[in-house]
Amino acid sequence: MSEPLRDSDVVVVVGAGLAGWRLSEALRRRGFAGPLTVVGAEPDRPYDRPPLTKQVLAGTLEESELSLERGDEASTMTWRLGVAATSLDVAARRVTLADGEVVEGSRIVIATGVRARRLAVSAGKRVHYVRALPDVRRLLADLSRARPGSPVVVIGGGFIGAEVATSLAHRGYPVIVLEALERPLLTVLGPTVSQWLLDLPSRAGIELRTSSAVRDVVSEGDDLVVQLVDGSTLRASAVVAGVGAEPATEWLAGADVTLDNGVVVDDEFAAAPHVAAIGDVARFPWRGPSGVELARIEHWQVANDHAAELARLWTGFAGARPPLIPYFWSDQYGAKVQVLGHPRPTDDVRLVIGEPGDARWLALYSRDDVVSGVVALRSPRALTLSRSLLAAPTALGDARAQAPWAG
Ligand SMILES: Cc1cc2nc3c(=O)[nH]c(=O)nc-3n(C[C@H](O)[C@H](O)[C@H](O)COP(=O)(O)OP(=O)(O)OC[C@H]3O[C@@H](n4cnc5c(N)ncnc54)[C@H](O)[C@@H]3O)c2cc1C
Repeated sequence: MSEPLRDSDVVVVVGAGLAGWRLSEALRRRGFAGPLTVVGAEPDRPYDRPPLTKQVLAGTLEESELSLERGDEASTMTWRLGVAATSLDVAARRVTLADGEVVEGSRIVIATGVRARRLAVSAGKRVHYVRALPDVRRLLADLSRARPGSPVVVIGGGFIGAEVATSLAHRGYPVIVLEALERPLLTVLGPTVSQWLLDLPSRAGIELRTSSAVRDVVSEGDDLVVQLVDGSTLRASAVVAGVGAEPATEWLAGADVTLDNGVVVDDEFAAAPHVAAIGDVARFPWRGPSGVELARIEHWQVANDHAAELARLWTGFAGARPPLIPYFWSDQYGAKVQVLGHPRPTDDVRLVIGEPGDARWLALYSRDDVVSGVVALRSPRALTLSRSLLAAPTALGDARAQAPWAG
């Protein structure tokens, strides 16, 4: 059990995103009054990322509305923004920053999230990614100079690619989405559900080209030319890629923590004594339908819950821990797709509301006849009502008999 913080402790949080901020804020709200330093590679104060691709890019939300700060806790912290941590000395609990400063603490928190996976293409410097606010600013500036009529090509039909395409189409840009596989989200939601989602782009008037793997992107004057593996080419005014993310752990090379697809932590988020990792970067023991597994889950809700839980653990809260039920949503092609739990693409799928092709439906995922997830299209209330199915292992038959989604 983690020892509760004393006010003589010094907390250093590396990563000023959702997890790092929510933890810092919660420690203050729970009474920790000692020194607390937040280190962030980005120049901006903590802000919310999901609206970047959904609203900011669409022009329906201002940057100023993204702040995660609600109270005045931030004024009680030391901020080191716009400077990345470059190394961690676990034994000395010392973090070195890119500008040479060394920040020492008695507790260190790793909350550096993930970074967008980059495409190795000739015109790599001109390909956009949307992970952070400066990325959105750069993309919009680039588009404002784009030749009218020439399409924006989005490489990758996953959640980020679909949201980028939707938002740019909303702004009036012609958009073409290239997906390497036969269907977007095939390796995330599996063959059945990815099939049901396949006609969303065309219904929204957005062109999706499947089985379209990109070989290279090259510059031709102001334009970019996307070369596909099948030999065809596409001229674009701009190219945006959403091809996955990787844990931001380079700065931890050589540190005495276990790196294996993220920072491996124990049940109390400890990566080493007095060093914790939370949020997208953390690979943590998660109790799923098949028992406890090490999982790294890139969801807003998970980062938020990690922060709340670590704050409770570090401030001596001894009550029962609530189950962590992963939740994810995406607004794409005019529809809300929501996922509860952590289903695998190989899980069995059964529709319990609607039919394939309907405007709204809800499906149960199961593994070995135990519910592993709930995926819904345009059915937020039914999805919320289904949460109880994932709070503890629930047999598929019991789930169908209870039918909480109908409540
Ligand atoms: C465009 C977009 C849309 C999304 N939409 C959804 C959605 O609809 N639903 C959903 O559930 N989730 C969504 N997510 C995911 C969600 O935003 C993340 O799960 C959440 O932000 C994770 O919080 P985090 O604090 O772990 O990481 P982040 O929010 O990524 O914060 C990590 C911070 O650490 C900083 N950092 C990295 N390396 C260093 C270093 N060496 N030194 C100092 N600082 C460093 C980074 O710059 C960053 O500011 C979306 C993410 C993006 C990018």
